[in-house]
Amino acid sequence: MSKRDPRYDRLFDKVKIGPLTSKNRFFQVPHCNGMGYLRPKSLAAMRGIKAEGGWAVVCTEEVYIHSSSENDPLVEGRLWDDRDVNALELTTEEIHKHDSLAGIELQHGGHVSTNYFSRIPPFSASNISVGPRAPIQARAMNKSDIRNFRKWHRNAALRAMRAGFDLIYVYAAHSGTLLTDFLLRRFNDRSDEYGGCLENRIRLIREVIEDTKDAIGHKCAIALRFAVEEFLGPKGITFNNEGKEMVEILSELPDIWDVNISDWSRDSATSRFEHEGYQEQYVKFVKSLTTKPVVGVGRFTSPDTMISMIRRGIIDFIGAARPSIADPFLPKKIDEGRIDEIRECIGCNICVVGDELSVPIRCTQNPTMGEEWRRGWHPEFIESKNREESVLVVGAGPAGLESALVLGKRGFRVILTESLDEVGGRVSRESSLPGLSEWGRVKDYRIHLLKQMREVSIFCDNRITAKDIIDFSDINQFNFAHVFFATGATWRRDGVGRKNRKLISGIEKIKIYTPDDIMDGISPNGKIVIFDDDHFYLGGIIAEKLRREDHEVLLVTPAPDISTFTHKTLEQRHIQKKLLDLGVELAPNMNLLNINSGSVELSCVFTNKNITSDFDSLILITERIQNDKLFKLLMTDKENLSKSGIKTLRCIGDCFAPGTIAAAIYSGHLTAREFNNVSKGEVPFLRERIEILK
Ligand code: SF4
Repeated sequence: MSKRDPRYDRLFDKVKIGPLTSKNRFFQVPHCNGMGYLRPKSLAAMRGIKAEGGWAVVCTEEVYIHSSSENDPLVEGRLWDDRDVNALELTTEEIHKHDSLAGIELQHGGHVSTNYFSRIPPFSASNISVGPRAPIQARAMNKSDIRNFRKWHRNAALRAMRAGFDLIYVYAAHSGTLLTDFLLRRFNDRSDEYGGCLENRIRLIREVIEDTKDAIGHKCAIALRFAVEEFLGPKGITFNNEGKEMVEILSELPDIWDVNISDWSRDSATSRFEHEGYQEQYVKFVKSLTTKPVVGVGRFTSPDTMISMIRRGIIDFIGAARPSIADPFLPKKIDEGRIDEIRECIGCNICVVGDELSVPIRCTQNPTMGEEWRRGWHPEFIESKNREESVLVVGAGPAGLESALVLGKRGFRVILTESLDEVGGRVSRESSLPGLSEWGRVKDYRIHLLKQMREVSIFCDNRITAKDIIDFSDINQFNFAHVFFATGATWRRDGVGRKNRKLISGIEKIKIYTPDDIMDGISPNGKIVIFDDDHFYLGGIIAEKLRREDHEVLLVTPAPDISTFTHKTLEQRHIQKKLLDLGVELAPNMNLLNINSGSVELSCVFTNKNITSDFDSLILITERIQNDKLFKLLMTDKENLSKSGIKTLRCIGDCFAPGTIAAAIYSGHLTAREFNNVSKGEVPFLRERIEILK
């Protein structure tokens, strides 16, 4: 095993946090995961893997402390009463097995509590509407409510200690907690000692920290999570006014400061909008105002950036949510001198989608994320082959690369062919679009490992035919009996998609462009109309690219807003703002009805009223068709197939069913992991069931 580079030694210092000592400086900050109180075994296994991977502190997601605050159907943690302790104990046991510290983020959502489940009217510092998820209002708390809240928080801290947690969070960040309702002027119009000046608005935070210390401070450390910048100017907290004053006032009260920026879409900004270390400029003042350790985040994946943050005294702990999701073994890999094996987060926020949809977390880079318990997948270890086999993988896009990597790790002989002169498929193409360069890490990580595997041979610039596959299958050098087709999918030119299931009238009269053309470097002329019936990121990105190239661009979509699925990746409002700033004309709620030479007819999805718009070039982003011609040709050639000895022909990734890059990688991983293994029965994974006691 290689040794740690001494340049990174300081990342492995022990650090005191109140009564605790962490084994190094790697700190998995709280993050949601779509498992919460509904899937405690899945959750415990996922957190345990992080601890095994070397994170010194591993925290939960938001854990709601009382029935007066919940956000069903979002699945977060719960610690409402004593019967919730056992489920959380599963998590602390898994974390402690690896000598890591277990942290819990206690939460009361105040005015963002929808309370759809409990039906208890929510409350807040003032009378205020509940956030956009519910058409109700929170009522202003009276003194008795405040006393009750303090009691509930204290009780939750005691229960958390009983569940085995070491680090207890007081959560006052992201403008979505009861404590931020009191802190932020725009939510707090009280005239008593909890409203008005900053000292008064901080009062409840101070009281809750003191209550928590009093209850569990002899054994546990207390973290304060606080967003120092809200990007709202004088209407909110900024790092050079109230953000700074708040840290000055509470400086030595918590045992550790966990500082970030708000709202969540800023804190968890995608790589399309922010680079590694993007929070430094906002949080760097904190350490000058406290002697307590400080943890900060910034999608850190480079040990050089991390050590620089420590050396320059910006933070004491390398905080991470997404980098720990993409690679739970990131600290261990640095410790063992394997930094070129780090599976770097690409900043795509597919992990957030799971939480937003209340399903278990997933990750583009790490297909094992969320599958630790239900499928028993480990991100680093994998079952070896049970017999000698060779597999031909056709296509080196995300699915092909991942399946070749997993098959190679299992010890199978793999021949990976690619028709283009470089690997990566859609990942290489899409990462050339504005803001997506980090997505190239999907390819870089895999090809780096594949090139070191003796079991894997890679042939680029190789347009393999059905005849080649039959002919080569029994040649000794190759001798494969199994073929996976990872040949991707192609964007349709006929406009068929979600909204139009039949050909759009007039489509045959003009040249149509697709995202494939744009990524191939073909430039449309003049004024461009983009019809986006895909609704994810490509419509907005292609509009941005062409506008930057000085085209007049009209982006049309039947959806209510631009790139509407990106609400789930926290990007939508940033995308729409960027396009408006660039001068892209937007036409939401409009379908593409007719195409004439030089003009398109658009129809309102509600009223069917039509408008006409001139154009020179039309780009359709609707659906994709599987590139499975080769697979189908072989399937029909039964005679030669049986002579060849080929036993498996299988499409994977987009070639099987077009989807996200995450889905393609998952498909490649699943197929390779299950190759030659016995089927697990009707439902291929474990399910957490509600036990009915009789
Ligand atoms: Fe990073 Fe994307 Fe994985 Fe989230 S889904 S951890 S952003 S690679």
